[in-house]
Amino acid sequence: MTPDAGIAAPARLLGGGRVVTPEGIVSDGWVAVRGERITEVTSERPGLEGPVLDLEGAWLLPGFIDLHMHGGGGHNVAESPRAMEEAVAFHRGHGTTATLVSLMTAPEGALREQLGWAAALTRRGAGSRGHVLGSHLEGPFLSPRRRGAQNAAHMLAPDDAVLERLLDAAEGTLRMVTLAPELPGAPGLIEALGAAGVVAALGHSDATYEQARAAIQAGARHATHLFNAMAPLLHREPGLVLAALEGGLTCELINDGIHLHPAVVRLVFDLIEFPALVTDAIDATGVGDGRFWLGGQEVRVHAGEARLMASGSLAGSTLTMDRALRNAVRSSGLSIERASAAASRVPARALGLERELGAIAPGRRADLVVLDDDLGVTAVMAGGAWCGTPDA
Ligand SMILES: [Zn+2]
Repeated sequence: MTPDAGIAAPARLLGGGRVVTPEGIVSDGWVAVRGERITEVTSERPGLEGPVLDLEGAWLLPGFIDLHMHGGGGHNVAESPRAMEEAVAFHRGHGTTATLVSLMTAPEGALREQLGWAAALTRRGAGSRGHVLGSHLEGPFLSPRRRGAQNAAHMLAPDDAVLERLLDAAEGTLRMVTLAPELPGAPGLIEALGAAGVVAALGHSDATYEQARAAIQAGARHATHLFNAMAPLLHREPGLVLAALEGGLTCELINDGIHLHPAVVRLVFDLIEFPALVTDAIDATGVGDGRFWLGGQEVRVHAGEARLMASGSLAGSTLTMDRALRNAVRSSGLSIERASAAASRVPARALGLERELGAIAPGRRADLVVLDDDLGVTAVMAGGAWCGTPDA
């Protein structure tokens, strides 16, 4: 099967695939694409003229949407506009057709600059090198007690004036802010984020169950890498974890086999409707073992596991979305429909974009991933255009 990049006919047909749709798998399914959009999804060939690509039984899934990405392919999004763009392009080769750019805790001036770079990439829309949906600030309003690999020296208490300046720098493209809800002023900040149309995410937090519940009451809708960088769920101290699980939040999972046990991933999928697979990938992703810099701190990657040299804390992941999906199916025994939803439809919904992205359905953007029997990426279509095979 060789996707043809040069076809310019009004309608194109993809046939003979195992098409994963919101209603289930259409085996031997057909998808019609016109321009940037999916126009039909059927079990029989649509009555349309146009070139046909035979998928020969391959899986066809909606393109992945990553809500948490710091880098990849040797590029750290916080380094330069060019590195940000290259990291996005790297992940697209692994099926991520739309992504947030995640910015770690840093001095305010640096964050404002990085938000500006992300704004420029977001305004560009779905360009040929990837589709940035906006930025995700992972800080600076976090708890030093659960800092993980974040630099506590730059953490701040919630401050509306700082938030205002960050929002200005992002020029309307800030989509998500991770904050610790137990910090003084957090409920007010969550309300301000809601008013600005930004998703308030809970994470890097030592919050009690009660504090987390209050934050959800104030409008928090998302949990950043559930279980990681938060108090563990204990039977007398259920903490943020249980508040998120029972509060209807979208819960991010770093499903790399290191951050979470596969059985815990399965449990979360059993418990809630909206688990979201994310990478939390750093620049070392796709590069191999070695030493790297992350937020001004040295990181050592060994056998794909990234840890701070100084403290030994896990420092993001070297995960890609296709591997997160494979792990969900193979290690956690989840259905491909459920894993696909967590990689595409749930993240689209978290950003209020579910009518536009994240599913193989008429009217949605033609963002598609072709996977072989081993769930390896063989081709990626973004906005109706094929963009090649993975580079790692
Ligand atoms: Zn992160």
